[in-house]
Amino acid sequence: MKQTKARKTDRLKQKKAVRKKKGLVIALMTLIYLVIVAAAAVIIDDRHIEITVFGDEDMLAEAGESFADPGAEAFLTGNLFGRAKKPVEMHVESGVDTARIGDYTIKYSAEAFGRSAESYRRVRVRDTTPPVITLNREEGYLASWLVGYTEEGYTALDSFDGDLTDKVIRTETGDAVYYSVADSAGNETKVERVIEYGISEPMIRLTGGETIDVGADFTFTDPGYEATDESGNDLTSYVQVTGKVVPNKLGSYVLNYTIMNERGETASASRTVNVVAQPVPETIMPEQKTIYLTFDDGPSAYTDSLLDTLARYGAKATFFVTNLDPDYVDCIGRAFREGHAIGVHTLTHDYYTVYSSDQAFYDDFLAMEEIIYRQTGSYTRLFRFPGGSSNTVSRNYNYGIMTRLAQSMTEMGYVYFDWNVDSGDALGGAKSSYEVANNVATGCLEHTANVVLQHDTKAFSVQAVENILRWGRNNGYVFEALNENCFTAHHDIAN
Ligand code: ZN
Repeated sequence: MKQTKARKTDRLKQKKAVRKKKGLVIALMTLIYLVIVAAAAVIIDDRHIEITVFGDEDMLAEAGESFADPGAEAFLTGNLFGRAKKPVEMHVESGVDTARIGDYTIKYSAEAFGRSAESYRRVRVRDTTPPVITLNREEGYLASWLVGYTEEGYTALDSFDGDLTDKVIRTETGDAVYYSVADSAGNETKVERVIEYGISEPMIRLTGGETIDVGADFTFTDPGYEATDESGNDLTSYVQVTGKVVPNKLGSYVLNYTIMNERGETASASRTVNVVAQPVPETIMPEQKTIYLTFDDGPSAYTDSLLDTLARYGAKATFFVTNLDPDYVDCIGRAFREGHAIGVHTLTHDYYTVYSSDQAFYDDFLAMEEIIYRQTGSYTRLFRFPGGSSNTVSRNYNYGIMTRLAQSMTEMGYVYFDWNVDSGDALGGAKSSYEVANNVATGCLEHTANVVLQHDTKAFSVQAVENILRWGRNNGYVFEALNENCFTAHHDIAN
């Protein structure tokens, strides 16, 4: 009995063990199966990231204009479940700069579940837009047959290069104007303007009025005029002026201005020019005893030492200069800078040349005045006639010329000086410094205002100056330079 029971128990145990073994095998088989199925699913599903680039993958963008990326999208997808697409986050790297011509790449990339993908777009930035030329038009403007077409203006603008107006090439033919310009990329624009001509009434406008007073002078400058037509064409250069102003002769002169257009229509204007005398400077007599040393005919080799002497005494003098020795022309500038007065004497000192005619005198005078200007930087109003205003030598060449010149030069605002003390160094017979100094001292005893005639072309006269200065100072005289308001010591005119 016991045996049977025991056998039964063993059999049961054996059965149980077999069942257990079977279960393990099944589980193992199932696992293997599932792994195979899963691997197959992954392989069959082919899960990955897809990027779709919208629009062209190779795009052309216009330089200078804004560029809009058409964009792209990314999603995760596979073969199973009907290829459902699951959007994933995408990165875009774009360096497109339409301010610079060049080739650019936009990179689109995405990453998810260990998968990644990237895609690209090429963007070529180019300037393909030609510049725009805009022509200005003036309302009512018609070109004149007389003066041609007057440009009404234009501008050239380029979307990339900006303002190209300065680069416009303009060609004008009789009836058209052609404008062309190219931008830096070589895009060219050409436009044409057809010129419309017309004839309208001419008009003249005077600047400065129909009646003017001008001070007598060597020259007259018209205050100006303008001629135009109704279209605003400038016809000024077609104005004819008749009549004449003699600027250094007092009087009333009429100038006529006329313009005629292509139809023979005229416009005219006239102007009365009154040449009036310049005001004569007031003469102010000195209260203190004064000596105005004046030196004619220089500068010369002696002028520098004369200036040294004057400087030592702090004395001022006046130089009526010539161009007889151009080597010493610098002395004019030095004398001026050291406070002495400079006046015109004559360029040539040749009586025949200077007094042959009024105009000859003026020419000689103005040439010397110009030399003074170059040395001093200013024009002088002071002068002394060659031979003085009382000379009779001019009578040999031109009767009455001194009377006329004294008047006209005064009317033009110049002040001439003669002298009331003659040092005698030229025609007075003085031959030594002693005689010169003596003559001056004697002469100066007679007046308060003394205009002394000397010549700095004479060594003995220049050498007398130190004694004259010493004597004058010891006797209460001051030494001054002449100016427009000084005593002129005029002589009686004898021609
Ligand atoms: Zn002289």
